[in-house]
Amino acid sequence: MTQHFDVAIVGGGPAGSAAAWQAARTGASVVVLDKATFPRDKPCGDGLTPRAVSFLQKMGLADAVASFYRVSGARVFSPSEWNLAFPKRPGMPDHGHVVRRTALDALLLENAHAAGAEVRQGAEVIAPIVDDGRVIGVTLRGGERVVADAVIAADGAYSPVKRGLRLDSKYHGYSAIARSAPRCPSTALQAWRLPMGFTAWPPWRPGVLFAGDALGAARPVSGAGISKALQSGMAAGECAVAALVNGGPDDFTNYAQRVEADWGSEYRRGRFFHRLIGVPAVANAGIKVLDKVNHPGVRSHLLFWEGWGSAPDQPPNN
Ligand SMILES: Cc1cc2nc3c(=O)[nH]c(=O)nc-3n(C[C@H](O)[C@H](O)[C@H](O)COP(=O)(O)OP(=O)(O)OC[C@H]3O[C@@H](n4cnc5c(N)ncnc54)[C@H](O)[C@@H]3O)c2cc1C
Repeated sequence: MTQHFDVAIVGGGPAGSAAAWQAARTGASVVVLDKATFPRDKPCGDGLTPRAVSFLQKMGLADAVASFYRVSGARVFSPSEWNLAFPKRPGMPDHGHVVRRTALDALLLENAHAAGAEVRQGAEVIAPIVDDGRVIGVTLRGGERVVADAVIAADGAYSPVKRGLRLDSKYHGYSAIARSAPRCPSTALQAWRLPMGFTAWPPWRPGVLFAGDALGAARPVSGAGISKALQSGMAAGECAVAALVNGGPDDFTNYAQRVEADWGSEYRRGRFFHRLIGVPAVANAGIKVLDKVNHPGVRSHLLFWEGWGSAPDQPPNN
């Protein structure tokens, strides 16, 4: 059986749901394919930065977000302890939230469905379908083919779509280490490598756009990935539809231009910073200096790097 859509989105995490929400609102036919059955969990600190909150507000989820546990800053152990308040930015909340990914991701997927996207859970994509150098759809486990004018790969850090295209991921980040929480039976530490600072460039190939962890969209330094998954997902959904309407699926340069304009210079600085702190002597010296600079503004700027960026558009009036 073969189904055809305007946009097929692989992955129903924050990036995929945001892309689906954005694309479906234009009237495009959209399907989200996720191998999991929701609610599903994922390794995460469950922290929403103020910017992530502002994107959720933009997606019409302000009331739901307000019910999540509210936080006003972050505590950093350096080895001394820094308590950093979230910076105040025009048009953005001055607080974040914490919420289990089981709840957040199910909420986002339902929001995409409510916007008009078809959601298929338990639908594992095993490979992209490539025809004459262009991605024209995906094959599901079991052999079903889903054909689409544009595919958005929002399938996480180990992106099977990217691997199917033999695209290497270049990691610019470090490992996120999570101490096992009471909900985990093991007492061991677990570590995950975070894709950040863009792991593949350009963020598209003919017929396919990459978003969220599949793009390596997480913010260098802080590693905050949910806000960037939402932001890149919305941009991918919007740019995919705009390109299809105005030219076709061979060229998603508009998406590369959007991502470059929004984050290009900041992520170049981030990658440089990571190369620097990859040298242990430099990292240790830097931490000592920062420990002595008892100025929360300087530390806050480093951690919440985006502090000087612009706020996203205001929530729509619907
Ligand atoms: C330990 C750790 C802690 C973190 N803490 C934070 C934090 O506190 N705050 C923060 O902002 N970020 C945090 N991050 C980063 C954040 O979790 C990610 O950046 C974010 O989840 C990326 O969203 P995504 O939608 O791109 O990918 P994901 O959330 O990974 O979603 C990808 C989806 O694709 C689906 N999928 C995968 N393969 C297939 C397939 N073959 N077929 C169909 N579907 C498929 C998966 O089931 C999944 O639902 C953390 C990451 C780690 C590892």
